[in-house]
Amino acid sequence: MHQLTLAEIARGLADKKFSSEELTKVLLARITQLDPQLNSFISLTEELALEQAKAADVRRANGESGALLGAPIAHKDLFCTQGIRTSCGSKMLDNFKAPYDATVVSKLAAAGTVTLGKTNMDEFAMGSANESSWYGAVKNPWNLEHVPGGSSGGSAAAVAARLLPAATATDTGGSIRQPAAFTNLTGLKPTYGRVSRWGMIAYASSLDQGGPLARTAEDCAILLQGMAGFDPNDSTSIDEPVPDYAAGLNGSLQGLRIGVPKEYFGAGLDSRIADLIQNSIKELQKLGAVIKEISLPNMQHAIPAYYVIAPAEASSNLSRFDGVRFGHRCEDPKNLEDLYKRSRGEGFGAEVQRRIMVGAYALSAGYYDAYYLKAQKIRRLVKNDFMTAFNEVDIILGPTTPNPAWKLGAKNSDPVAAYLEDVYTITANLAGLPGLSMPAGFVDGLPVGVQLLAPYFQEGRLLNVAHQYQLNTDWHTRTPTGF
Ligand code: GLN
Repeated sequence: MHQLTLAEIARGLADKKFSSEELTKVLLARITQLDPQLNSFISLTEELALEQAKAADVRRANGESGALLGAPIAHKDLFCTQGIRTSCGSKMLDNFKAPYDATVVSKLAAAGTVTLGKTNMDEFAMGSANESSWYGAVKNPWNLEHVPGGSSGGSAAAVAARLLPAATATDTGGSIRQPAAFTNLTGLKPTYGRVSRWGMIAYASSLDQGGPLARTAEDCAILLQGMAGFDPNDSTSIDEPVPDYAAGLNGSLQGLRIGVPKEYFGAGLDSRIADLIQNSIKELQKLGAVIKEISLPNMQHAIPAYYVIAPAEASSNLSRFDGVRFGHRCEDPKNLEDLYKRSRGEGFGAEVQRRIMVGAYALSAGYYDAYYLKAQKIRRLVKNDFMTAFNEVDIILGPTTPNPAWKLGAKNSDPVAAYLEDVYTITANLAGLPGLSMPAGFVDGLPVGVQLLAPYFQEGRLLNVAHQYQLNTDWHTRTPTGF
């Protein structure tokens, strides 16, 4: 039963092959048995899950239907869940029980999902390896000595290990797409504003976006349908109608114009990954797509710009965790300054402290123009490159990451080496565009992802292309040994 996708679960529940309660019990037992190897959950919510599963079974018995009614999922532990610990992977919030549900959580609950737990993540979503979590590193089910990617590494490892069919995640600079690539999943970062950020603990507010992580594009379509839509509580949420994503999966790819940026294939890309990306291009050509070489000339400036803008926003967002308004409070403070210093020094881990310092520096008087303002100008150039490219092509295709998942600890002493691995993903966040990563093969037994980017609000196009590709390839069906 644990091998079923969301789409198959919906059919099984509708045909009364099993109940949501039965399925939930199977998955909870599987998590208890296998997760100690992976560390993909921070909290399990067994009682809530069984309650929600029973309620979903009653709703179905009363004639209700819906692709998410009775579907077990988990939430990345930065989505606020009422009365349940919402830790953001940090000691700072270890004892924080959110007083309300994030919009994503309440929308999915209303659609009938069953919450199995809260998944592990890099502290405050800062990282690409899920090693900065206060709750310990997450392991990659494809090779337990390797990282699962981050920051949504817990959601990715759990879904890849078949502990559950799908999970929510967030992507500020790649944290849905990169872990999807490292664990052989399909992950979608929607257009900025498509999914509400209300109740999603902020890292970098102008870049953060929630989205689905699942095994197939079809399942991403199902989960996104439950997450997307206008929310008056989020001032950057956009009031655009949400299309029927499942209905759009079967469009023909005949004549689809795919742009392949020449900058994506420069030095730094593992040549075995480059070969797998060429294979996926050939698959899409067989389905009728037309390939065109394009250029994104400002891509080389994106990493420095992102690693100024994201820490700048983080330094401002994280100022609320001061031991008074929010977060861990030190014992016995001598005075107010001591309270701030020790509460923040004890509550935040090294990577978060590094980002707060970089961000505060970049925003300070005298440096603002040289760093922050410059980075914002680069951000506009990156966006303009995409706008020019999308005049000529319908989607952009390339690798999701330059290398496969690295060994645990391999980049711990060199944060910049880890930042450089974000080269292909962060541009979509800087521009606010939707992006998807899907399985494209393996290198040394580790999964490789191919990334697709589309114009604003064209999530449906990404899902359509990925679904057609998955009907003709079987990479996404491979299961890690031992799970
Ligand atoms: N690796 C990037 C960072 O550390 C992206 C993280 C994310 O998308 N949350 O900022």
